[in-house]
Amino acid sequence: MIYIKKDLIAQMIEHSKKEFPNEACGILAGKEGKVEKIYPMTNTDRSAQTFFMDPREQLKVMKEIRSLGLEMIGIYHSHPVSLAYPSTRDVELAYYSHVSYIIVSLKDKDNPKIRSFRIEEGKISEEEIKIV
Ligand SMILES: [Zn+2]
Repeated sequence: MIYIKKDLIAQMIEHSKKEFPNEACGILAGKEGKVEKIYPMTNTDRSAQTFFMDPREQLKVMKEIRSLGLEMIGIYHSHPVSLAYPSTRDVELAYYSHVSYIIVSLKDKDNPKIRSFRIEEGKISEEEIKIV
């Protein structure tokens, strides 16, 4: 289970719409399964099918997260035209087993879907998002 404030969900959806038709990506910072802050990141792939975060930007954000006494507890990205489910590539690139992978689907643009997953050793399991 992951706890996310309503306005942070809105921010992720807004960011995803802004990057459309490309994928958007970002980092969720928080503690003990509760998201406190989101960091929209640059998708250096500038692609509609993939995302990759700029390592320098990521390092900067990780430093800020640490200075706030928080941790990276999730990574979000958007699927502009497909379902909110990890792609084969998403699974291959899921390096972190202790973070939530959140996917925003804009397949139905007027009704964005958001789901969260854990990906461990290639195994996908969905977790519940608790909107607070
Ligand atoms: Zn994906």
